[in-house]
Amino acid sequence: MAGSASATLEGLIIDGARTAASDGGVLDVLNPSTGERLARVAKATAADVNRAVAGARAALESAAWGGMAPAERARILYRIAQRIRERADELALLESQDNGKPLRQARADVQVAARYFEFYAGVADKIMGHTIPLGPGFLDFTVREPIGVSAQIIPWNYPIQIGGRGAAAALTAGCAVVLKPAEDAPMTALRLGEIALDCGLPSGVFNVIPGDGPEAGQALASHPDINQLTFTGSIEVGILVAKMAAENIVPVVMELGGKSPNVVFADADLDATVKGVATAIFQNAGQTCSAGSRLLVERKAHDALVERLVAHVKAMRVGPGPDDPDMGPIISRKQLDTVQRYVDIGRQEGAEVIAGGRRPQGTMPAGGFYIEPTLIDRVGPDMRIAQEEIFGPVLSILTFDDVEEAAALANRSQYGLVAGIWTRDINKALTLASRIKTGQIYVNTYGAGGGVELPFGGYKKSGYGREKGLEALASYTQVKNVCVRFGA
Ligand code: NAP
Ligand code: MG
Repeated sequence: MAGSASATLEGLIIDGARTAASDGGVLDVLNPSTGERLARVAKATAADVNRAVAGARAALESAAWGGMAPAERARILYRIAQRIRERADELALLESQDNGKPLRQARADVQVAARYFEFYAGVADKIMGHTIPLGPGFLDFTVREPIGVSAQIIPWNYPIQIGGRGAAAALTAGCAVVLKPAEDAPMTALRLGEIALDCGLPSGVFNVIPGDGPEAGQALASHPDINQLTFTGSIEVGILVAKMAAENIVPVVMELGGKSPNVVFADADLDATVKGVATAIFQNAGQTCSAGSRLLVERKAHDALVERLVAHVKAMRVGPGPDDPDMGPIISRKQLDTVQRYVDIGRQEGAEVIAGGRRPQGTMPAGGFYIEPTLIDRVGPDMRIAQEEIFGPVLSILTFDDVEEAAALANRSQYGLVAGIWTRDINKALTLASRIKTGQIYVNTYGAGGGVELPFGGYKKSGYGREKGLEALASYTQVKNVCVRFGA
């Protein structure tokens, strides 16, 4: 299963060429389904970051990119979308091998990445300014110019999706990009960079430099010649990165974590709700920033919903991602240990593990990082398993009695990324939607395809700024106002 090309070195993509790291450093990239090596990837140093930023800057100032008409940028982005679709099988298998996610999830991720390029391609020649009326003798207008070199630091959980969403939005605005994928899953980001070059994106416009966070990540975030930074990851690293960027007055988009609630009222269609609630937490083995990791259920529906959830979870098949199970492994041994520790913490706090929580039985490879999908009931609102992001397939179940209590519980979190509401009563749904403090709210669904078109980002410590949709362009453009006096 581990790719046969595993001994070949995957070079960094800097200034249009594949290159080894300046010090010859190499990352061993693991396949979490087996624990075996998937690939060897060049590991960027601070010197490589300097080269990538310099390449991006030169591209920005070149006629080839800086002077390209927006409609031509659009054509290149459309070609990238098409090429991603042509290579979908290969990219999906690679994503599944690198991250461990089920093959059909990886296939969906690849389509979403293509959609980002397509969606933003259509925007390239529609980034418009305003005219501002100052009265006779004045012409005042605004121009939205590319913000410049966009540095993007992404996590390992959805590399091709998150790599695509940031790059496509930045490129359509005319920026140049330096992307640092996470060392745990860098492969498809490298493929994106390769595809972009094949599709005619000029050299240096899109650089991809896998490397260690504290070395390459830090060198990129603190680089004095970047103009913008998009960070997707944990709160702790987000704070570090924002401080580094602040030293250079570089604006940051922060896409951080969540402890997102799914709020279920007794009048909901429980069969549809069970599927929605289970997918919201078990997709990608719970390693999703927007995972619906807290279930808040109206007390009188608790038993009926939980019974259905237990049946659903017991029927789930766990196994190697490329075998397309219902759930794959966790990304790494370290992350698996964290998830296991949280299950133990839940027990110690007095909650009840009603399904899962152990290594699954079966014939999965011994070296893989597996855990069963896990339900924990009787969770108190201030327990650590109700408050802290576990980033694994663990659902914490709490109960409420009315809309007031549901709103209070939903908001009892440092996070504010996403919330789901399940009810047939439009008044309850809209009342709660107006009260919950999260950047996205779903009613009787959770997610909408990849959500490419929908602005996405956090309230509270889930971050600030918005990715996805047209709102993302605000981060990748800057406004110039031109005021002209004419006549006498
Ligand atoms: P992480 O540890 O914060 O890492 C994120 C990225 O930052 C990785 O590329 C990492 O590189 C890099 N990094 C680490 N230390 C750094 C440093 N000192 N300076 C600069 N960069 C550094 O997060 P993770 O564990 O990979 O991902 C899980 C977190 O991401 C969760 O909290 C999750 O909720 C959040 N997330 C949010 C979204 C969203 O859109 N809101 C989406 C996905 C994930 P290395 O890993 O290579 O060291
Ligand atoms: Mg991997």
